[in-house]
Amino acid sequence: MQAPKGTYDVLPAEQERRALLEARARKILGAAGYRRIETPAFEATELFSRGVGAATDIVQKEMYSFDDGGGRSLTLRPEGTAPICRAYMEHGMHKLPQPVKLWYLGSFFRAEQPQRGRYRQFWQIGAEAIGAAGPETDAELILLLGSLLDAMGVKGTRLRLASLGNPETRSAYREQLTAYLRAHLDELSAEVRARIELNPMRAFDASDPGTRAVMAGAPKLLDQLSADDAEHFALVRELLDAAGVPYELDPTLVRGLDYYTRTLFEFSSDALGAQSGVGGGGRYDRLIEQLGGQPTPGVGFAAGVERILLAGAEQPIAPEPVDLLVALADRDDRVSVLTAFDLAHEARQAGLAAQYELYGRSLKSALKHADRINARYVAIVNDPLHASLRDMDSGEQQELEPSRLIATVLRGSRLS
Ligand code: ATP
Ligand code: MG
Repeated sequence: MQAPKGTYDVLPAEQERRALLEARARKILGAAGYRRIETPAFEATELFSRGVGAATDIVQKEMYSFDDGGGRSLTLRPEGTAPICRAYMEHGMHKLPQPVKLWYLGSFFRAEQPQRGRYRQFWQIGAEAIGAAGPETDAELILLLGSLLDAMGVKGTRLRLASLGNPETRSAYREQLTAYLRAHLDELSAEVRARIELNPMRAFDASDPGTRAVMAGAPKLLDQLSADDAEHFALVRELLDAAGVPYELDPTLVRGLDYYTRTLFEFSSDALGAQSGVGGGGRYDRLIEQLGGQPTPGVGFAAGVERILLAGAEQPIAPEPVDLLVALADRDDRVSVLTAFDLAHEARQAGLAAQYELYGRSLKSALKHADRINARYVAIVNDPLHASLRDMDSGEQQELEPSRLIATVLRGSRLS
Protein backbone atom coordinates (compact mmCIF):
# COMPACT_ATOMS: atom_id res chain seq x y z
CA MET A 1 0.00 0.00 0.00
CA GLN A 2 1.10 3.51 -0.70
CA ALA A 3 0.11 6.93 0.55
CA PRO A 4 -2.53 8.57 -1.68
CA LYS A 5 -1.21 10.36 -4.76
CA GLY A 6 0.00 13.86 -3.98
CA THR A 7 0.53 13.17 -0.27
CA TYR A 8 3.76 12.24 1.47
CA ASP A 9 5.13 11.13 4.81
CA VAL A 10 7.19 13.55 6.87
CA LEU A 11 9.93 11.20 8.07
CA PRO A 12 12.08 11.79 11.16
CA ALA A 13 15.01 13.00 9.05
CA GLU A 14 12.89 15.89 7.77
CA GLN A 15 11.55 16.95 11.15
CA GLU A 16 14.59 19.05 12.04
CA ARG A 17 14.16 21.54 9.22
CA ARG A 18 10.43 21.78 9.85
CA ALA A 19 11.03 22.34 13.54
CA LEU A 20 13.53 25.02 12.60
CA LEU A 21 10.96 26.75 10.40
CA GLU A 22 8.46 26.64 13.23
CA ALA A 23 10.99 28.04 15.72
CA ARG A 24 12.04 30.86 13.40
CA ALA A 25 8.41 31.72 12.63
CA ARG A 26 7.59 31.81 16.32
CA LYS A 27 10.52 34.11 16.92
CA ILE A 28 9.98 36.48 13.99
CA LEU A 29 6.19 36.67 14.20
CA GLY A 30 6.10 36.48 18.00
CA ALA A 31 8.45 39.46 18.24
CA ALA A 32 5.95 41.49 16.23
CA GLY A 33 3.11 40.45 18.54
CA TYR A 34 1.53 37.70 16.43
CA ARG A 35 0.14 34.73 18.39
CA ARG A 36 -0.46 31.24 17.12
CA ILE A 37 -3.92 29.95 16.27
CA GLU A 38 -5.08 26.56 15.05
CA THR A 39 -8.37 25.99 13.32
CA PRO A 40 -9.92 22.60 12.39
CA ALA A 41 -8.81 20.61 9.36
CA PHE A 42 -12.34 20.75 7.94
CA GLU A 43 -15.02 23.41 7.88
CA ALA A 44 -18.49 23.90 6.44
CA THR A 45 -18.15 23.99 2.64
CA GLU A 46 -20.07 27.25 2.60
CA LEU A 47 -17.26 29.02 4.43
CA PHE A 48 -15.03 28.57 1.41
CA SER A 49 -17.63 29.06 -1.32
CA ARG A 50 -18.59 32.36 0.33
CA GLY A 51 -15.13 33.29 1.57
CA VAL A 52 -12.74 32.21 -1.16
CA GLY A 53 -15.22 32.90 -3.95
CA ALA A 54 -17.41 30.56 -5.99
CA ALA A 55 -15.66 31.45 -9.25
CA THR A 56 -12.12 30.67 -8.06
CA ASP A 57 -10.09 27.64 -9.15
CA ILE A 58 -9.93 26.54 -5.55
CA VAL A 59 -13.70 26.32 -5.12
CA GLN A 60 -14.41 25.19 -8.68
CA LYS A 61 -11.97 22.32 -8.92
CA GLU A 62 -9.61 21.95 -5.99
CA MET A 63 -11.73 21.29 -2.91
CA TYR A 64 -12.09 17.98 -1.11
CA SER A 65 -15.73 18.21 -0.08
CA PHE A 66 -17.75 15.43 1.44
CA ASP A 67 -21.10 14.74 2.99
CA ASP A 68 -20.61 13.97 6.68
CA GLY A 69 -23.45 11.48 6.66
CA GLY A 70 -25.81 13.94 8.32
CA GLY A 71 -26.61 15.93 5.21
CA ARG A 72 -23.93 18.55 5.87
CA SER A 73 -21.30 19.36 3.29
CA LEU A 74 -17.85 19.69 4.82
CA THR A 75 -14.57 20.56 3.12
CA LEU A 76 -10.96 19.85 4.00
CA ARG A 77 -9.57 23.35 4.33
CA PRO A 78 -7.86 24.56 1.15
CA GLU A 79 -6.61 27.78 2.77
CA GLY A 80 -6.36 29.48 6.14
CA THR A 81 -7.76 32.99 5.93
CA ALA A 82 -11.49 32.24 5.75
CA PRO A 83 -11.28 29.85 8.75
CA ILE A 84 -9.39 32.45 10.77
CA CYS A 85 -11.99 35.10 9.97
CA ARG A 86 -14.65 32.60 11.00
CA ALA A 87 -12.82 32.09 14.30
CA TYR A 88 -12.41 35.87 14.76
CA MET A 89 -16.18 36.28 14.51
CA GLU A 90 -17.07 33.16 16.45
CA HIS A 91 -14.91 34.12 19.43
CA GLY A 92 -15.84 37.80 19.46
CA MET A 93 -12.24 38.83 18.82
CA HIS A 94 -13.43 42.29 17.80
CA LYS A 95 -13.61 42.93 21.57
CA LEU A 96 -9.85 42.37 21.90
CA PRO A 97 -7.39 45.20 21.31
CA GLN A 98 -7.17 45.63 17.53
CA PRO A 99 -5.67 44.57 15.30
CA VAL A 100 -5.78 40.91 16.31
CA LYS A 101 -2.50 39.46 15.06
CA LEU A 102 -2.38 35.73 14.48
CA TRP A 103 -0.18 33.15 12.83
CA TYR A 104 -0.70 29.53 11.92
CA LEU A 105 1.14 26.48 10.67
CA GLY A 106 -0.76 23.45 9.46
CA SER A 107 -1.77 21.28 6.57
CA PHE A 108 -4.11 22.23 3.77
CA PHE A 109 -5.75 20.23 1.02
CA ARG A 110 -6.26 20.89 -2.67
CA ALA A 111 -7.11 18.42 -5.42
CA GLU A 112 -4.34 19.48 -7.80
CA GLN A 113 -2.09 17.70 -10.25
CA PRO A 114 0.82 16.64 -8.02
CA GLN A 115 4.36 17.60 -9.02
CA ARG A 116 7.47 18.96 -7.35
CA GLY A 117 6.33 21.66 -4.94
CA ARG A 118 2.65 20.90 -5.56
CA TYR A 119 0.83 18.38 -3.42
CA ARG A 120 -2.69 17.45 -2.43
CA GLN A 121 -1.92 17.73 1.24
CA PHE A 122 0.62 20.46 1.83
CA TRP A 123 1.62 22.74 4.67
CA GLN A 124 1.31 26.46 4.94
CA ILE A 125 2.64 28.98 7.36
CA GLY A 126 0.64 32.16 7.47
CA ALA A 127 -0.16 35.29 9.43
CA GLU A 128 -3.14 37.62 9.59
CA ALA A 129 -3.69 41.06 11.11
CA ILE A 130 -7.40 41.69 11.49
CA GLY A 131 -8.88 45.05 12.41
CA ALA A 132 -6.33 47.56 11.10
CA ALA A 133 -6.88 49.38 7.83
CA GLY A 134 -3.66 51.37 7.48
CA PRO A 135 -0.96 50.65 4.88
CA GLU A 136 1.60 50.04 7.65
CA THR A 137 -0.12 46.72 8.33
CA ASP A 138 0.24 45.65 4.69
CA ALA A 139 3.90 46.64 4.70
CA GLU A 140 4.50 44.92 8.06
CA LEU A 141 3.19 41.60 6.78
CA ILE A 142 5.29 41.83 3.63
CA LEU A 143 8.39 42.54 5.74
CA LEU A 144 7.61 39.68 8.11
CA LEU A 145 7.23 37.17 5.28
CA GLY A 146 10.45 38.51 3.75
CA SER A 147 12.27 38.03 7.07
CA LEU A 148 10.96 34.53 7.44
CA LEU A 149 12.10 33.57 3.94
CA ASP A 150 15.52 35.12 4.64
CA ALA A 151 15.79 33.29 7.95
CA MET A 152 15.12 30.00 6.15
CA GLY A 153 17.77 30.77 3.54
CA VAL A 154 15.32 30.99 0.62
CA LYS A 155 17.41 32.16 -2.30
CA GLY A 156 16.67 34.19 -5.40
CA THR A 157 13.46 35.70 -4.14
CA ARG A 158 11.52 38.26 -6.06
CA LEU A 159 8.65 40.29 -4.64
CA ARG A 160 5.82 41.39 -6.89
CA LEU A 161 3.26 43.91 -5.81
CA ALA A 162 -0.07 45.18 -7.07
CA SER A 163 -3.30 46.72 -5.86
CA LEU A 164 -6.73 45.39 -6.70
CA GLY A 165 -8.52 48.51 -5.51
CA ASN A 166 -12.06 48.02 -4.22
CA PRO A 167 -14.83 45.76 -5.53
CA GLU A 168 -16.66 48.66 -7.22
CA THR A 169 -13.66 49.78 -9.26
CA ARG A 170 -12.92 46.16 -9.91
CA SER A 171 -16.33 45.31 -11.31
CA ALA A 172 -16.23 48.32 -13.67
CA TYR A 173 -12.77 47.17 -14.74
CA ARG A 174 -13.99 43.63 -15.12
CA GLU A 175 -16.57 44.67 -17.69
CA GLN A 176 -13.95 46.59 -19.59
CA LEU A 177 -11.61 43.58 -19.52
CA THR A 178 -14.37 41.18 -20.55
CA ALA A 179 -15.15 43.38 -23.56
CA TYR A 180 -11.46 43.46 -24.46
CA LEU A 181 -11.19 39.66 -24.22
CA ARG A 182 -14.31 39.20 -26.35
CA ALA A 183 -12.75 41.38 -29.01
CA HIS A 184 -9.76 38.97 -29.11
CA LEU A 185 -11.62 35.66 -28.76
CA ASP A 186 -9.81 33.64 -31.45
CA GLU A 187 -6.38 34.47 -30.02
CA LEU A 188 -7.24 33.09 -26.56
CA SER A 189 -6.82 29.55 -25.25
CA ALA A 190 -9.96 27.45 -24.97
CA GLU A 191 -9.71 27.46 -21.18
CA VAL A 192 -9.55 31.22 -20.94
CA ARG A 193 -12.38 31.56 -23.44
CA ALA A 194 -14.58 29.26 -21.38
CA ARG A 195 -13.98 31.33 -18.28
CA ILE A 196 -14.31 34.86 -19.61
CA GLU A 197 -17.61 35.50 -17.85
CA LEU A 198 -16.69 33.65 -14.68
CA ASN A 199 -13.27 35.08 -13.97
CA PRO A 200 -11.71 37.24 -16.71
CA MET A 201 -8.80 38.33 -14.45
CA ARG A 202 -7.52 34.75 -14.49
CA ALA A 203 -6.52 35.33 -18.13
CA PHE A 204 -3.48 37.22 -16.80
CA ASP A 205 -2.35 33.95 -15.26
CA ALA A 206 -2.51 31.91 -18.49
CA SER A 207 0.69 30.42 -19.86
CA ASP A 208 -0.14 29.88 -23.56
CA PRO A 209 1.60 32.35 -25.89
CA GLY A 210 -1.61 33.43 -27.66
CA THR A 211 -3.35 34.52 -24.47
CA ARG A 212 -0.16 36.08 -23.14
CA ALA A 213 0.20 38.25 -26.22
CA VAL A 214 -3.40 39.45 -25.87
CA MET A 215 -2.94 40.14 -22.17
CA ALA A 216 0.15 42.24 -22.74
CA GLY A 217 -2.11 44.82 -24.37
CA ALA A 218 -5.04 44.47 -21.99
CA PRO A 219 -6.25 47.39 -19.83
CA LYS A 220 -4.73 47.31 -16.32
CA LEU A 221 -6.62 47.75 -13.08
CA LEU A 222 -3.61 49.47 -11.52
CA ASP A 223 -4.20 52.42 -13.86
CA GLN A 224 -7.78 52.83 -12.68
CA LEU A 225 -7.62 52.82 -8.89
CA SER A 226 -9.77 55.26 -6.91
CA ALA A 227 -7.95 58.16 -5.26
CA ASP A 228 -8.13 56.51 -1.81
CA ASP A 229 -6.89 53.18 -3.06
CA ALA A 230 -4.10 54.80 -5.03
CA GLU A 231 -3.05 56.75 -1.93
CA HIS A 232 -3.05 53.58 0.20
CA PHE A 233 -0.96 51.78 -2.38
CA ALA A 234 1.50 54.66 -2.67
CA LEU A 235 2.04 54.55 1.10
CA VAL A 236 2.63 50.80 1.12
CA ARG A 237 5.28 51.32 -1.55
CA GLU A 238 6.89 54.18 0.35
CA LEU A 239 7.10 52.07 3.50
CA LEU A 240 8.76 49.25 1.58
CA ASP A 241 11.15 51.68 -0.10
CA ALA A 242 12.09 53.14 3.29
CA ALA A 243 12.69 49.63 4.63
CA GLY A 244 14.96 48.92 1.66
CA VAL A 245 12.84 46.07 0.35
CA PRO A 246 13.06 45.71 -3.42
CA TYR A 247 9.87 44.87 -5.32
CA GLU A 248 8.42 45.03 -8.79
CA LEU A 249 5.05 46.46 -9.62
CA ASP A 250 3.11 43.83 -11.50
CA PRO A 251 -0.30 44.94 -12.78
CA THR A 252 -0.94 41.40 -13.99
CA LEU A 253 -0.54 39.81 -10.59
CA VAL A 254 -3.53 37.59 -9.91
CA ARG A 255 -4.06 35.33 -6.98
CA GLY A 256 -6.48 32.45 -6.83
CA LEU A 257 -8.68 33.91 -4.14
CA ASP A 258 -11.51 36.34 -4.68
CA TYR A 259 -11.48 38.11 -1.35
CA TYR A 260 -8.59 40.45 -1.92
CA THR A 261 -8.93 44.24 -1.98
CA ARG A 262 -6.17 46.79 -2.35
CA THR A 263 -2.67 45.38 -1.74
CA LEU A 264 -1.68 42.08 -3.28
CA PHE A 265 1.81 40.58 -3.11
CA GLU A 266 3.72 37.46 -3.97
CA PHE A 267 7.22 36.20 -3.31
CA SER A 268 8.66 33.79 -5.82
CA SER A 269 12.01 32.08 -5.94
CA ASP A 270 13.97 31.06 -9.00
CA ALA A 271 15.32 28.14 -7.00
CA LEU A 272 11.92 26.51 -7.53
CA GLY A 273 11.34 26.09 -11.26
CA ALA A 274 7.77 25.86 -12.48
CA GLN A 275 6.06 26.11 -9.09
CA SER A 276 7.88 29.33 -8.29
CA GLY A 277 5.44 30.92 -5.84
CA VAL A 278 6.76 30.66 -2.30
CA GLY A 279 4.15 32.72 -0.56
CA GLY A 280 1.91 35.68 -0.90
CA GLY A 281 -1.07 37.47 0.42
CA GLY A 282 -2.91 40.70 0.52
CA ARG A 283 -5.61 42.80 2.06
CA TYR A 284 -9.15 41.49 2.42
CA ASP A 285 -11.25 44.35 3.75
CA ARG A 286 -14.59 42.89 2.64
CA LEU A 287 -14.12 39.28 3.66
CA ILE A 288 -15.50 39.34 7.20
CA GLU A 289 -18.54 41.24 6.05
CA GLN A 290 -19.00 38.70 3.29
CA LEU A 291 -18.98 35.96 5.91
CA GLY A 292 -21.74 37.71 7.82
CA GLY A 293 -19.73 39.86 10.24
CA GLN A 294 -19.31 43.58 10.78
CA PRO A 295 -17.14 45.34 8.18
CA THR A 296 -13.59 44.63 9.43
CA PRO A 297 -10.36 45.22 7.52
CA GLY A 298 -7.70 42.54 7.40
CA VAL A 299 -4.46 41.62 5.72
CA GLY A 300 -2.35 38.48 5.72
CA PHE A 301 0.03 36.12 3.99
CA ALA A 302 0.39 32.39 3.44
CA ALA A 303 3.55 30.61 2.37
CA GLY A 304 4.08 27.01 1.33
CA VAL A 305 6.23 25.07 3.78
CA GLU A 306 7.43 22.53 1.21
CA ARG A 307 8.40 25.31 -1.18
CA ILE A 308 10.27 27.19 1.57
CA LEU A 309 12.17 24.02 2.39
CA LEU A 310 12.82 23.25 -1.30
CA ALA A 311 14.08 26.76 -1.99
CA GLY A 312 15.79 27.18 1.37
CA ALA A 313 19.48 26.68 1.78
CA GLU A 314 20.59 23.21 2.77
CA GLN A 315 21.25 24.34 6.30
CA PRO A 316 23.28 21.80 8.20
CA ILE A 317 21.40 20.92 11.33
CA ALA A 318 23.23 19.26 14.19
CA PRO A 319 21.55 16.06 15.35
CA GLU A 320 19.82 16.21 18.73
CA PRO A 321 22.44 15.60 21.40
CA VAL A 322 22.19 12.30 23.24
CA ASP A 323 23.62 12.33 26.76
CA LEU A 324 23.58 8.68 27.50
CA LEU A 325 23.19 5.32 25.83
CA VAL A 326 22.57 2.52 28.31
CA ALA A 327 23.86 -0.91 27.23
CA LEU A 328 24.32 -4.25 28.95
CA ALA A 329 27.35 -6.46 29.47
CA ASP A 330 25.18 -9.55 29.56
CA ARG A 331 21.67 -9.42 28.13
CA ASP A 332 20.76 -12.79 29.58
CA ASP A 333 21.11 -11.51 33.12
CA ARG A 334 17.59 -10.54 34.12
CA VAL A 335 18.70 -8.38 37.07
CA SER A 336 21.03 -6.30 34.87
CA VAL A 337 18.24 -5.78 32.37
CA LEU A 338 16.03 -4.40 35.13
CA THR A 339 18.82 -2.18 36.44
CA ALA A 340 19.79 -0.83 33.03
CA PHE A 341 16.23 -0.26 31.87
CA ASP A 342 15.45 1.61 35.09
CA LEU A 343 18.64 3.62 34.73
CA ALA A 344 17.61 4.92 31.30
CA HIS A 345 14.19 5.82 32.62
CA GLU A 346 15.61 7.60 35.69
CA ALA A 347 18.08 9.48 33.53
CA ARG A 348 15.24 10.84 31.40
CA GLN A 349 13.34 11.80 34.54
CA ALA A 350 16.44 13.71 35.60
CA GLY A 351 16.24 15.69 32.37
CA LEU A 352 18.86 13.83 30.35
CA ALA A 353 18.47 12.68 26.76
CA ALA A 354 18.95 9.00 27.49
CA GLN A 355 18.37 5.95 25.31
CA TYR A 356 18.22 2.29 26.26
CA GLU A 357 19.91 -0.02 23.77
CA LEU A 358 16.78 -1.74 22.51
CA TYR A 359 18.15 -3.78 19.64
CA GLY A 360 20.29 -6.26 21.58
CA ARG A 361 23.61 -5.18 20.05
CA SER A 362 26.88 -6.65 21.21
CA LEU A 363 28.99 -4.28 23.31
CA LYS A 364 31.21 -3.49 20.35
CA SER A 365 28.37 -2.57 18.05
CA ALA A 366 26.62 -0.68 20.87
CA LEU A 367 29.67 1.58 21.02
CA LYS A 368 29.58 2.02 17.26
CA HIS A 369 25.90 2.88 17.51
CA ALA A 370 26.69 5.41 20.27
CA ASP A 371 29.09 7.10 17.88
CA ARG A 372 26.47 7.19 15.15
CA ILE A 373 23.82 8.81 17.33
CA ASN A 374 26.37 11.23 18.74
CA ALA A 375 26.03 10.03 22.36
CA ARG A 376 28.14 11.77 24.96
CA TYR A 377 28.34 8.77 27.34
CA VAL A 378 27.70 5.07 27.16
CA ALA A 379 26.82 3.20 30.34
CA ILE A 380 27.55 -0.51 30.36
CA VAL A 381 25.69 -2.19 33.18
CA ASN A 382 27.34 -5.33 34.59
CA ASP A 383 25.05 -5.91 37.56
CA PRO A 384 23.02 -3.80 40.00
CA LEU A 385 26.18 -2.58 41.72
CA HIS A 386 28.67 -2.31 38.87
CA ALA A 387 28.67 -0.28 35.71
CA SER A 388 31.23 1.32 33.41
CA LEU A 389 30.72 4.78 32.09
CA ARG A 390 32.51 5.62 28.87
CA ASP A 391 33.07 9.22 27.90
CA MET A 392 32.73 9.13 24.12
CA ASP A 393 34.59 12.41 23.66
CA SER A 394 37.75 11.44 25.58
CA GLY A 395 37.45 7.67 25.32
CA GLU A 396 38.01 7.41 29.10
CA GLN A 397 36.11 4.80 31.01
CA GLN A 398 35.36 4.75 34.74
CA GLU A 399 33.84 2.10 36.94
CA LEU A 400 31.07 3.18 39.26
CA GLU A 401 27.80 2.17 40.86
CA PRO A 402 24.80 2.58 38.55
CA SER A 403 23.15 4.74 41.24
CA ARG A 404 25.94 7.35 40.91
CA LEU A 405 25.97 7.35 37.16
CA ILE A 406 23.24 9.90 36.51
CA ALA A 407 24.91 12.56 38.66
CA THR A 408 28.15 12.08 36.74
CA VAL A 409 26.45 12.32 33.35
CA LEU A 410 24.52 15.40 34.46
CA ARG A 411 27.83 17.14 35.16
CA GLY A 412 29.09 16.38 31.67
CA SER A 413 25.82 16.79 29.78
CA ARG A 414 25.88 18.73 26.53
CA LEU A 415 22.35 19.88 27.20
CA SER A 416 23.22 21.98 30.24
P1 ATP B 1 0.09 28.38 -7.18
O1 ATP B 1 -0.02 29.54 -8.13
O2 ATP B 1 1.44 27.78 -7.10
O3 ATP B 1 -1.01 27.37 -7.38
P2 ATP B 1 -1.54 29.66 -5.23
O4 ATP B 1 -1.70 31.02 -5.75
O5 ATP B 1 -2.64 28.68 -5.43
O6 ATP B 1 -0.15 29.03 -5.72
P3 ATP B 1 -1.93 30.42 -2.49
O7 ATP B 1 -3.31 29.96 -2.46
O8 ATP B 1 -1.68 31.87 -2.45
O9 ATP B 1 -1.15 29.75 -3.69
O10 ATP B 1 -1.11 29.73 -1.30
C1 ATP B 1 0.08 30.31 -0.76
C2 ATP B 1 1.27 29.41 -0.94
O11 ATP B 1 0.97 28.07 -0.60
C3 ATP B 1 1.80 29.32 -2.37
O12 ATP B 1 2.64 30.41 -2.66
C4 ATP B 1 2.56 28.02 -2.33
O13 ATP B 1 3.85 28.21 -1.76
C5 ATP B 1 1.76 27.19 -1.39
N1 ATP B 1 0.89 26.26 -2.11
C6 ATP B 1 -0.30 26.51 -2.71
N2 ATP B 1 -0.81 25.39 -3.24
C7 ATP B 1 0.07 24.39 -2.96
C8 ATP B 1 0.12 22.98 -3.25
N3 ATP B 1 -0.86 22.37 -3.89
N4 ATP B 1 1.19 22.28 -2.82
C9 ATP B 1 2.20 22.89 -2.15
N5 ATP B 1 2.21 24.20 -1.86
C10 ATP B 1 1.17 24.94 -2.25
MG1 MG C 1 -2.99 27.21 -6.85
